[in-house]
Amino acid sequence: MKPVIAIVGRPNVGKSTLFNQITRSRDALVADMPGVTRDRLYGEGRIGLRSYIVIDTGGLSGEAEQLDGLMARQVEQAVQEADAVLFMVDARSGLIPGDQRICDWLRRLGKPVRLVVNKVDGIDPAAALAEFHGLGLGEPYPVAAAHGRGVAGLVGEVLAGFPESAEEGMPTEDEGGIRIAIAGRPNVGKSTLVNRMLGEERVVVCDLPGTTRDSIFIPLERRGRRYTLIDTAGVRRRGRVHEVVEKFSVVKTLQAIEAAHVVIHVVDAREGVSDQDLRLLGFVIETGKALVIAVNKWDGMDRDERERVRNELKRRLAFADFARIHFISALHGTGVGDLYASVEAAYEAATQALSTTRLTQVLTDAVADHAPPLVHGRRIKLRYAHLGGRNPPLVIIHGNQTEHVPDSYRRYLVNTFRKVFKLEGTPVRIEFKTGE
Ligand code: GDP
Ligand code: GDP
Repeated sequence: MKPVIAIVGRPNVGKSTLFNQITRSRDALVADMPGVTRDRLYGEGRIGLRSYIVIDTGGLSGEAEQLDGLMARQVEQAVQEADAVLFMVDARSGLIPGDQRICDWLRRLGKPVRLVVNKVDGIDPAAALAEFHGLGLGEPYPVAAAHGRGVAGLVGEVLAGFPESAEEGMPTEDEGGIRIAIAGRPNVGKSTLVNRMLGEERVVVCDLPGTTRDSIFIPLERRGRRYTLIDTAGVRRRGRVHEVVEKFSVVKTLQAIEAAHVVIHVVDAREGVSDQDLRLLGFVIETGKALVIAVNKWDGMDRDERERVRNELKRRLAFADFARIHFISALHGTGVGDLYASVEAAYEAATQALSTTRLTQVLTDAVADHAPPLVHGRRIKLRYAHLGGRNPPLVIIHGNQTEHVPDSYRRYLVNTFRKVFKLEGTPVRIEFKTGE
């Protein structure tokens, strides 16, 4: 599973600046759990080929009373879900008693803490760092988050302590088949769906070496094919009984999405598509996962309601219109078995081999139908295309002045590749290269 890093510190030390710097995502995930008073943000960070999950825990004032209060308990929850903590202090304000109290409070939680001194731009770093040694957290790490200075080194150092591959401990594709994450907001029916999928007559839940009873990976076999369900809802195997042992966790959801080949995103038909759904789906697309959408609780809705929901989905989910939508009732089992066909199709689309010859042919035809625009009187030239990666498909296009290809033209090409190669259910990425 991907490592999780939580950023903790007083307000204004630069936590969200660092968060934005390392996630570079416009749409962070906000915990929308009841009782969370301060926004806690979740995002994905990436260094080279490694990715990890970052939590901006929101502010802790460091006042003694506050550290006993609700806010601190919420930050504590995030810290407990993290593998490592970045404790951020501010070089400009120097060491203040609030920092010391947060430091003591953190130490009690027993997580590995890396002390980060922010805003060292334009000041003498040695002098700025000296006083923070007193916190007893080891060598302070200087950064200027606003300028990205020191950030990559810091993250690299923290990640060095974790296994190189996030796949460690996961059933491989050979033994576990397609990995399917069931994701969605609380109460949309994820655990009901997981139980329904496991309870299907055709399904045999298997034991695999390396998967323990408490594993969130549930290997199963259906019609001679293997799959691994990744459980975010907290349905754990306890002997033969499936019981709910955990509540919703954003971190587990993000980790499950990251670990999946295909995500089934569950939406509650009665609640419609919420902003949190959009953010979760945005995360799925950003991580490049194949996607199937299941609109649950379709039972007991009348025709007008169904029509209204269909229209809303069409409008709100236009950005994910490559995904098949299923209308299901996890409670009654209606439509649940059909999900597998779409999972298979999405996986196949995401991983299929696309030859350079065919990609280039399709590119040439697309350009002939609708040429790229002129830039400063010269036409953008797109010469050939090849596959740079699978799951999701990454099409690399070589040409001239490709840095000027407008977004609308990129979308036109994505749609063309999608149509010709039937890339249903998977995001498609294009990367342009100028020159050879
Ligand atoms: P948070 O409350 O801890 O999330 O802090 P913010 O990220 O909102 O930052 C607080 C202020 O510090 C903002 O005005 C930032 O522009 C500023 N800031 C953040 N990082 C840096 C830095 O590296 N250098 C300087 N000089 N200012 C910074
Ligand atoms: P989770 O938090 O996403 O795992 O949601 P649960 O599986 O715990 O379901 C939340 C509630 O929705 C429970 O009361 C379920 O019985 C109910 N529910 C789940 N699926 C359906 C469905 O297909 N139809 C109806 N009517 N209710 C459902």
